[in-house]
Amino acid sequence: MIQKNLKSIQSQLPEEVLLVAVSKTKSKEMIAEAYKAGQRDFGENRPLELREKAETLPSDIRWHMIGHLQRNKVRDIIDKVYLIHSVDSVGLLDVIERRAAKAGVNVKVLLQVHIAQEEHKFGFEEANIIRFFKEEKAQDYPHVSIEGLMGMATFTEDESQLRKEFSTLKKLRDKILELNTVNQQEFRIISMGMSGDYSIAIEEGSTMVRVGSSIFGTR
Ligand SMILES: *Cc1c(COP(=O)(O)O)cnc(C)c1O
Repeated sequence: MIQKNLKSIQSQLPEEVLLVAVSKTKSKEMIAEAYKAGQRDFGENRPLELREKAETLPSDIRWHMIGHLQRNKVRDIIDKVYLIHSVDSVGLLDVIERRAAKAGVNVKVLLQVHIAQEEHKFGFEEANIIRFFKEEKAQDYPHVSIEGLMGMATFTEDESQLRKEFSTLKKLRDKILELNTVNQQEFRIISMGMSGDYSIAIEEGSTMVRVGSSIFGTR
């Protein structure tokens, strides 16, 4: 079933959109099945779970941290993670820089932007993120590559609301590129779209979708 689901989703994705299979709470056996079908990018939201899976599953898997990350958990994943999607504060970015320098690695990250109507979702507000780049702060992190933005839309079936939120993120990415204070080759990723809304996200400019339940079943 997992392999069939993966094929069906892959066939709907344009070539330039990367599928991150969200494997949080799912067993290693299920991940191994997706791996056999050629899937290499997997998303987790708990640092220790990511670490434990990374230590036992094939080493060419690229592990994505997609959930809220506490500062004191950064060191658990720093040498295991391929891309941290959920950097939601400058303080967290500072910790990632420090830990990466200490571990002698370079870490790729996305900045999470608060695009949903719901208050409880994490992320930078748009004005703060623009200020961050205007002040050329991205250059203060020699061990961190800021590769783009991530967003989570409101949990709703209202398609026009979803489109509005996704296009906000895409426009923000373009606005930041125009400021010319980031590496233009590096700052390209727009991580948006989950099981319920990835087709809409792609139409609105997503380059990376994070899909869990449509691949592995409900949690
Ligand atoms: C769980 C999760 C997903 C995947 O959700 P599904 O609805 O199962 O596809 C995507 N992004 C984040 C940040 C998540 O926590």
